[in-house]
Amino acid sequence: MASYPELKLHIGGEWRRRDGAPVVNPADESVLGTVPHATRTDLDDALAAAAKGFQVWRNTAPAKRAEIIQRAAQICRERAEENAVPITLEQGKPLAQAKLEILRGCDIIDWDATEGRRVYGRVIPSEPGMRNTVLRQPIGVVAAFSPWNFPMSSPARKVAGALSSGCTIILKASEETPAGAYNLVRAFADAGLPPGVLNLVFGVPSEISEYLIPKPTIRLVTFTGSIPVGKHLAALSGAHMKPAIMELGGHAPVIVCDDADPEASAATSAVGKSRNSGQVCISPTRFFVQEAIYDRFTTAFGEKARQIKIGDGLDPQTQMGPVANDRRLAAMETLIADARAKGARIVAGGNRIGNRGYFHELTVLADVPDDARAMHEEPFGPLALISPVKTLDEAIDKANSLPYGLAGYAFTRSARNVDQLAERVEVGNLSINHLTASFAETPFGGVKDSGYGREGGTEGLDCYTVAKNVSHRVL
Ligand code: NAD
Repeated sequence: MASYPELKLHIGGEWRRRDGAPVVNPADESVLGTVPHATRTDLDDALAAAAKGFQVWRNTAPAKRAEIIQRAAQICRERAEENAVPITLEQGKPLAQAKLEILRGCDIIDWDATEGRRVYGRVIPSEPGMRNTVLRQPIGVVAAFSPWNFPMSSPARKVAGALSSGCTIILKASEETPAGAYNLVRAFADAGLPPGVLNLVFGVPSEISEYLIPKPTIRLVTFTGSIPVGKHLAALSGAHMKPAIMELGGHAPVIVCDDADPEASAATSAVGKSRNSGQVCISPTRFFVQEAIYDRFTTAFGEKARQIKIGDGLDPQTQMGPVANDRRLAAMETLIADARAKGARIVAGGNRIGNRGYFHELTVLADVPDDARAMHEEPFGPLALISPVKTLDEAIDKANSLPYGLAGYAFTRSARNVDQLAERVEVGNLSINHLTASFAETPFGGVKDSGYGREGGTEGLDCYTVAKNVSHRVL
């Protein structure tokens, strides 16, 4: 069997073994290993280590910090081939996608590291003899909670943002896909990061968040995951006056205008939908297609979807792996049955594959009525929903009709359409004629229930700093 690491906690620069819970391979439901659960003492030690580490790290020159962080990125890059394997084993995505995730994570780490050298303050013009200087200082110890769909790049975003700003961090990564974060932390340790700057724990998520967030040591909370959990953690953070970065769910609309190439946009969409088996908060999901090209787009989408090869992520031929857990499989089956009962038409897929492992067909539904549950509940799986629209106005109204507002997409050649879309679609990230919602250098995050705060870009680092004005009357 391909190798899966023996997982440990990382606290104050030391590795700790603990008992815990099994980690399951979604491709065959076998047990890969054990994720160690932190005790209360471990969490107290992590808090003390992160507080102590902060005094060291905030006083380390930004250039030196960048050097260590970039060394960690380089180590991750060198290990990308071997560390992609445990990600595929625990999460299911094809090996090539796991490797890409690691390389993308490295790109983010590198960009944040160098940007950390440019966390500039300001000198504000003031009356003679008075100098107002704005310092941007690291906020302090960060409690970070990362999800199971991107085991390496999601923790990498949080670690890179915090460390590049001079903060220290306690990372509680996903218990379902822990090896991605474990190998990330190992790279930072091997790069020579001082003890306590980056701590890794696992356990029962609610017990850890409810213990850590109220602690005075914690000065910022960052969470990526579902809207219900995000609202709970945002409320808990608010009750203790902690700022938070909330990167929550999405239900991305894709507006396909009648001047777009139906076949090319459908092919791009099918491949985009299959990525990580649709378990991406920015996954393209609700397709609003203008009537003139509706039939051609729908037919082409179905054809392309059927060509995508589904299988074990370790097989080099595989283009889409299983969904990551039985909860996603159950959600797919429920949402598809509901949509069909309400009149949706199956264009491709529709069913679970086999009964061992969590494989599901890439499913395309057309003529999906607005009242189908899938149209307003995030499927977070390989499900595309296509509906006809008459006008761009109608498409934008439908796109904005949900409380979600993370990513949105459109296909059009018209500058007038782009102008309308840019002005009116209520999302944090809008991509036109492609499906990449974020880059290392661009801010990523949501509006409405999809959350607040940004990861990536200069805005990302802003979230980890506080502005302090020093007002000095010169004597
Ligand atoms: P869930 O709501 O049970 O959990 C979502 C995530 O939050 C998991 O990583 C879980 O470990 C963590 N979590 C749960 N309770 C927590 C708590 N009290 N404190 C701290 N962390 C906690 O949902 P799920 O079945 O794991 O995932 C499905 C849903 O999660 C999807 O519908 C999707 O909306 C969302 N999700 C979003 C992202 C994203 O990138 N925004 C990633 C993963 C999952």
